Amino acid sequence: MTASIQYDIITHSPEQTQALGKNLGQRLDQGLVLGLNGDLGSGKTCFVQGLASGLEVSAAYDITSPTYTLIHEYPGRLPLYHVDLYRLESPVDPTVLGLDEILYDNAVVAVEWADRLAPRDWPPAYLDLVFTIESDDSRRIRIQACGLADDNLLKELFGKFN
Ligand code: ADP
Ligand code: MG
Repeated sequence: MTASIQYDIITHSPEQTQALGKNLGQRLDQGLVLGLNGDLGSGKTCFVQGLASGLEVSAAYDITSPTYTLIHEYPGRLPLYHVDLYRLESPVDPTVLGLDEILYDNAVVAVEWADRLAPRDWPPAYLDLVFTIESDDSRRIRIQACGLADDNLLKELFGKFN
């Protein structure tokens, strides 16, 4: 997979991580698959909370890691699927969760512990995010567009965070 463009962003609070997700969510007018990796507590779910808000998912939904349920679906401007592969053995069989269909659904699909899904099972274009704990309050978020044609979206979105 050729990576086209990459940004490294440091956030200094959960609110900033949410804002990053929200910014992206607000700008999306078609489906997008996001693979999220990083240790427990590194901010993946926090980012998805912002993403949901940007997609106008009702604030009545409490967005938490679907660690046991594996998939949560939320109605928004675009449907949002929040997936957590933490409890599944790698490589995850994508047909078990119906992921093979969801990934091509023109929905926004945010997958925590994305590494558990083999590279061959990812769509040709997706956003790869790696979360690292830098200190109690700061997180490094590396965002890489893989096979996405629209580099400008990322430049507009994340260039200013640099
Ligand atoms: P993950 O889904 O990666 O396991 P969560 O988003 O559930 O992580 O949790 C992140 C935790 O880290 C939360 O308790 C949050 O308050 C805390 N935190 C501290 N600083 C940040 C930051 N800059 N960005 C995101 N979360 C942060
Ligand atoms: Mg989580």
